[in-house]
Amino acid sequence: MNWITRQLKKILPQKKKSLDIPVDSWQTCKRCKSANYIDDLRKNFYLCSCGSPFSCPPRERFKYLFDNSKWEEVPYDTSFKDFLNWKDRISYKERVQKSIEATGQDEVGIIAKGEINGTKVCCISMNFLWAGGSVGHNFGECVIKAAETSREENLPLVIFTESGGARMMEGAISLMQLPRMTVAIQIFKDMEQRQPSILFSCSPTTGGLSASLANICDFTLAEHETDLIAFAGKRVLDGFNDETIPEDFQTAISLKRNGFLDDIIERPNQKEKISTLISLLQKKVA
Ligand SMILES: [Zn+2]
Repeated sequence: MNWITRQLKKILPQKKKSLDIPVDSWQTCKRCKSANYIDDLRKNFYLCSCGSPFSCPPRERFKYLFDNSKWEEVPYDTSFKDFLNWKDRISYKERVQKSIEATGQDEVGIIAKGEINGTKVCCISMNFLWAGGSVGHNFGECVIKAAETSREENLPLVIFTESGGARMMEGAISLMQLPRMTVAIQIFKDMEQRQPSILFSCSPTTGGLSASLANICDFTLAEHETDLIAFAGKRVLDGFNDETIPEDFQTAISLKRNGFLDDIIERPNQKEKISTLISLLQKKVA
């Protein structure tokens, strides 16, 4: 700083400091294009005023799901494993670090135990913002841990999936999680006096996850009529087929109409619905 700038600083009006509002405080609705303040979303189940859903982070989901917004998180092995020493634009390690910073989560899924209308349940919730909700080795561990916890403590299992599919940075190790998760849930279901399992396919639930975990629970539900639930996307299928694919193809409403989904339950009604289904099934299996 020389003497001219020092003099100018004294004469010229000082620039006002910008308000300290983080850039991710606002989210734009895909349907009505309105901007929603994050605090308003938290108060309204992460729904826009037009009713369209935003991705709901696991800990926000637990707040509206569990009685008195109280739950206990179940730890599992989330240590970083770079099987392929992967690097594309950035290294796998940097990518994971970015996801941890963006979400405050060590891995894509969180396991929680808490009460829903007085009934204790074990719950997994995924976060799409964590590396696109991709399924790697650690998410396989997450599902196995949750299934074991439910089995050992005799708890119903509730799962919310939100995934783009397999994690390419882990290659075949990622694909191996599909049978691991399937076997873990099947062992839970093979128990003599077992508890119910309920799965919500949140948007998007695609790729390997939709071909494994998302279709093996007692109830398969979705959150919203427009939720995207698919194995291969519309663009991929367009390349294989001359037929015109319907507009609502792979949406929850189309899957329900064709018998792939049991029901569509919007977020404000999910707690009551889960509670009702568990009490009905517990009477049946007890
Ligand atoms: Zn909207």
